[in-house]
This record gives sequence, C-alpha cells and structure tokens, in this order.
Amino acid sequence: MAGMADDTTAVVWDSALLDYDMGDHPLNPVRVELTMALARDLGILDRPGVQMITPGEASEIDLTRVHRADYLEAVRLAPIDPFFRGWGLNTPDNPVFDDMHQASARICGATLAAAGAVWHGVARRAVNVAGGLHHAMPARAAGFCVYNDPAVAIAWLLEQGAQRVAYIDVDVHHGDGVQTVFYDDPRVLTISLHESPLALFPGTGFADEIGGPGAEGTAVNVPLPPGTGDAGWLRAFHAVVPSVVRAFAPEIIISQCGADAHRLDPLADLRLSVDGQRAAYIAMRALADEVCDGRWVATGGGGYALVEVVPRAWAHLLAVATGEPLAPETRIPQRWRTLAAARRPEATIPEAMTDGTEPPIESWPGTSEDPVDRAVLATRTAVFPLHGLDPHDPRD
Ligand SMILES: [Zn+2]
Repeated sequence: MAGMADDTTAVVWDSALLDYDMGDHPLNPVRVELTMALARDLGILDRPGVQMITPGEASEIDLTRVHRADYLEAVRLAPIDPFFRGWGLNTPDNPVFDDMHQASARICGATLAAAGAVWHGVARRAVNVAGGLHHAMPARAAGFCVYNDPAVAIAWLLEQGAQRVAYIDVDVHHGDGVQTVFYDDPRVLTISLHESPLALFPGTGFADEIGGPGAEGTAVNVPLPPGTGDAGWLRAFHAVVPSVVRAFAPEIIISQCGADAHRLDPLADLRLSVDGQRAAYIAMRALADEVCDGRWVATGGGGYALVEVVPRAWAHLLAVATGEPLAPETRIPQRWRTLAAARRPEATIPEAMTDGTEPPIESWPGTSEDPVDRAVLATRTAVFPLHGLDPHDPRD
C-alpha cells in the first residue's frame, strides 16, 4: 500500500459538531452546515482519496494538556446554574449553552482526529472545518471559544514526540490563545496574520510579541492595517511565512483558516476576496508539500458572513486539501442555493465560487511608504534574525 497516504485526505465530520451553538450569536453553526453541504454538492467529498472520519469527544487527558481541570469543571457546571459567573463565561461573547462541555470537547476531538490521521500517516492531509477556536485560554473562555482545539491537537502532537510543529493562523483576529499556550515552547512556531490589534479584538498580536525566554522567534505576528486587501495581504504572507517556516523546518503544519478577513465580514475590516482566501490555502498546502512531506491539518475558525462567504471559502479549502483547487468561475449548484435561502432568507445567495477578482502577485518590498510594507518590515525585523534570516533581503 505504499503511497496510499499520498492520495488520502481525511475530512472530519459529524453533524453533532453543529451542537456548538451559542444561540442568537454571530458564531452560528449554519456556516459549517452550509460549508459541508456546498462541498458535497460540488463533488469535493466524493473525490478519490477522501476519507470521512467521525470524531468523538476529546478526553479529560487530552483537554488538560491545555486547559485547567477546574476550568473544565466550571464549563460542565455552567449550563445547570443560571447565575453562573466567571471563567469568561455567561458574557455576551461567550454565552453558556446546554451541553457546552460535550459540544466543545467534540470540536477538540475532531481536530485531534485530524491531527492523529496525519501524524500516524493514515492521511496526508486532514480538515476539520468546525474547528479553529483559537481564542480559548487555559482557564478562560474568550472570543466565542470555550476549548482551544488547535492547541489541544498541538499538545497531543508534542506528547507523541513531535519536535517542531508550525501553526499558521489566517483568521482576521490574532491567534492569541494558541500563542499564549506555546509562547515559551521552542517546539511550536505560531504565526498569525491579522487586522491590527489597535483596531480589533483581542488587542494582542503586535510584531514585538516574539516568544518567551528560550523560545524567541517562535511567535510571529503580522498585524495589518484595516482595509488591507488581497494584494497587500498576500504580499505580507509571502514576505514572512514561507521563509520562517522553511527555517523552522516543521514536521507538520496546522492552519487555522478563519474566513473573517473577507471584505463582507461584519466583524472586521480587512478586504480579502474568496479568491485571495483560495490563494492563501493553496500557498499553505504548497508550503506543507515543500517542507514537511505534505503533512497539513487545516481547521476553520471565525467567519460571520454565514452564507455569502464562509461556505465558499471553506469549500475552496476542502478542494485544495483534497486535490485540485476549484476553478474560481465554478458555478454554485442550485440545490445548495435553495438550502442556503431556506436557512437564511435574508441573505444574498452567491452564484459562483469567485468574487470576480484575480489576486495580484506582488513581491515584497513594495513601496516603502505603504503601511502594509511597514508592518511587514516590523515583523521581519523582530523575528528574521532569530531564524538566521535577513529582514532586508527580499530573497529571504
Ligand atoms: Zn476571527
């Protein structure tokens, strides 16, 4: 069976993942339901080599590699106490919901299943679109996130003996929870591209957050000005991410693919198109192919344009992970449009997998007065020397 994993991508899915439901709240599971429906209707899940995996809940042992046991206990108790306070819960951002512990543990179980499939060589790549809850802290819910599934999966990989894990976070918000958990651990490289913390939650992710003592250079932050579009975002990505990842030489790449950097997202102010997001996914897969034999685990993340953006972005992600990228001009099947209209009658239902823009390919440095290029230079100056790279050399 040599080479089997080469052709195999695990897609982790169970409709029970939709139980992570905060009610009348921006993080609505309909986006995940519509993503999987779109991928199915486009034939992506029927491609050769796609292996569907049904996840279980992460165990107490798995969760406590990242989270405090007393926090898990609080999450279990919160839904049965209407006056529950503390631990970041029962707030507008993080409302308490029925079976919150089980639903959150299942999201972690799904990302663990994805990481396990790739680490054990069962699949070359794996995707959990329901995952990416990157703001959760060891003892606190934050930013709609109760348990931190990327961190739980990375901690498991370290437990298996992984020595170098790279985490790339393209959500519009800083990947603060994952960065915090591994800030002092030189075995985990966290890279986050996000809208400037001066403008957006969670208010961290400055270029000078570079990792703790003994781990300097293993936290990398690229805060981008509000309004940054495809060209600037992709220029920043290519000016920072490939060089640092190549220098770090990870054994596996975990990507958090929040779709909220899109121009239509109601919670943030970057201006990507789905075409730019597709280009980012292609770049991350190519990087995994180049540096770690293709081992790539991708999760979802944020994304609040529930019909207009998220399903298209993550259907592109699933296509990139399972084989050939979808042609941007691919039409969206009527069957999916009918379902989307039934779920969200007020939404504008997209007709094609493109926003009609071809992302330009620009190399860094651009014009030195461009605020994106100033941001890129700040990041490169902060971390490149720690990886033996020259911040000013465009070849690095
Ligand atoms: Zn986000």
